[in-house]
Amino acid sequence: MSLRDKFLEAVAAKWSALRASRKTRVLTGMAAGFSLIAFGAAGVAPNVPDASDLPVRVLVQELALPDLATQIQSLSTQPGQFISEERVRPGDSLAALLDRLGVDDPQAASFIRSDATASKLMNLRPGRRMQATVNQEGKLLSATALLGDGRDELKRLLIQRQGDALSALQTDVRMDSRVEMRSGEIRSSLFAATDAAQVPDAVAMQIVDIFSSDIDFASDLRKGDRFQVIYETFWNNGEAVRTGRILAVEFRNAGKNYQAVWYAQHGSEQGAYYDLQGKALKKAFLKSPLQFSRVTSGFSMRLHPISGLWKQHKGIDFAAPVGTPIRAASDGMVDFAGAQGGYGNMVILRHGPVYSTVYAHMSRIAPVAKRGTIVSQGDVIGYVGTSGWSTGPHLHYEFRVNNDARDPNTIATPPVPALAEADLQTFHRMADDMNHRFALMSPKTVQLAAR
Ligand SMILES: [Zn+2]
Repeated sequence: MSLRDKFLEAVAAKWSALRASRKTRVLTGMAAGFSLIAFGAAGVAPNVPDASDLPVRVLVQELALPDLATQIQSLSTQPGQFISEERVRPGDSLAALLDRLGVDDPQAASFIRSDATASKLMNLRPGRRMQATVNQEGKLLSATALLGDGRDELKRLLIQRQGDALSALQTDVRMDSRVEMRSGEIRSSLFAATDAAQVPDAVAMQIVDIFSSDIDFASDLRKGDRFQVIYETFWNNGEAVRTGRILAVEFRNAGKNYQAVWYAQHGSEQGAYYDLQGKALKKAFLKSPLQFSRVTSGFSMRLHPISGLWKQHKGIDFAAPVGTPIRAASDGMVDFAGAQGGYGNMVILRHGPVYSTVYAHMSRIAPVAKRGTIVSQGDVIGYVGTSGWSTGPHLHYEFRVNNDARDPNTIATPPVPALAEADLQTFHRMADDMNHRFALMSPKTVQLAAR
């Protein structure tokens, strides 16, 4: 099954689920594909009559780990053994985690602290799950958890007891990819909306990046803007271990719809984002040179209308906290880097014979921004400040055509490469499907369908 087929299948499944649940917004996580088995008291310990005496436990079925699966099988026939699962909490200690797992076993605790392999349990990041099997006295029989943060290769750590001896080993982990769909509405800031829709930060930042030529997420967002996003996630045994790429996203900003579909051209490993007509979304210049983050999110909303406006002094002022990274708006060469009168600390980039860009009032110029250096779009060239003639922290940005400052919003930027004819047919079929799914997900349609 190709990724696209999987994707469309998942989209269809998600849509049926959405229809069934009649939710208008915020799709919850995909439950399909992994099974959670809640063991009642009778399932694990048939000899114990009163369920309220037992710790709460959830068993996660471990399909890809035969040894643990075997253990679980045998457990269901062995009274007095318990499996529990806990998530690592921020600031957690090993002692607290073991306590919650029902482990009362000084030998096991000291083994985990001292054994070279087992001690990797001490570095589990918050949110990760650890499962443990204990006997009635709280003695640890086995424990398992995923290691690594998803960027590294993932390993599963397994601690096992044989008689009085504990041992630890690591095994390779196979990951399955799945597709998630989420939607949300902007009320205060992008991150508030993505948090509410349970969209990971990595995906929120991809949305910002994908539309960086068209939307300045620091100052263009309006209350009531909406997004719908479809992205890949990677799982192991029912645990989400990594967030992948956005496959399609729609953003409605100030009444205008922006759509992006990921597509890798025929014979190319490298993909890019295209609008539904097959035009590449990334343009030669970024809409805002400021790096967007949780810190800057909503900042210029507060300081409106200073930001994003073409003013008499022939530049655009972007309000932002001191220290916010400033990025090269386009590929270019550093033409000037230093202090210059009212501009304060300033960098000028030249982009070919016609265009140049100016960044002023910096608190600090980045070390890479030296005269003659070649920079790429998005490279950090300095940091927001209030040097020179400036009344408060902001970036003064100029877009120059033949050395004349012009309003970039009125300049037709250099042409964007479109998909080749050979790709267009395939792309249009895919884009039509996406568009259809997005239309189905839109709240109006959902409300109608729910009646
Ligand atoms: Zn200015």
